Amino acid sequence: MSQRPYVIDQMISAKRIAARVEALAEEITQSFKGTDRLVVVGLLRGSFVFIADLIREIDLPCEVDFLEASSYGNETTSSREVRILKDLRGNIGGRDVLVVEDIVDTGHTISKVMELLRDRGPRRIECCAMLDKPSRREVEVRATWTGFEIPDEFVVGYGLDFAQGHRNLPFIGKVTFTEETKA
Ligand code: 5GP
Repeated sequence: MSQRPYVIDQMISAKRIAARVEALAEEITQSFKGTDRLVVVGLLRGSFVFIADLIREIDLPCEVDFLEASSYGNETTSSREVRILKDLRGNIGGRDVLVVEDIVDTGHTISKVMELLRDRGPRRIECCAMLDKPSRREVEVRATWTGFEIPDEFVVGYGLDFAQGHRNLPFIGKVTFTEETKA
């Protein structure tokens, strides 16, 4: 096999992720206590591993829906334009909603998605992001719950990709590009 033009170093271990997911789920459970049924909305594709772990730790009646918004292509920079590629199947009017995002970077995606979903009249809507890169923010936005704040690095694993690869890594890893890739 040819040598890869980048290396991946572990930044957050699977063990740390699991402990944080459990703590987040406990806070979410307390916060939405009494809900008839929480609608957990995963933003595809990056949040699919996180949402799968998170819902199994949330001690509330739940249903799951997915929404896909465009942001990254195969590039490592965020596009400003946010388009809905796949909308929710269900109606969230009058419902308790938790939006689950993989990472908040510039903030454009989550801010647009929350605006769009708020317009549909949920009873309550909050956001839980696994990762946050506050130093990259271009839009003032904050998730209600954040797993980990990380520095301005490109990360993969635990659902996050680079050119559609590495989503199945059980940990979150930092990508370091070699000179060859930068050229
Ligand atoms: P934003 O609109 O906040 O700039 O971008 C959010 C989206 O960009 C995330 O949902 C994610 O898909 C992608 N993204 C941002 N930073 C990273 C990163 O470090 N690694 C990966 N794989 N995707 C990222």
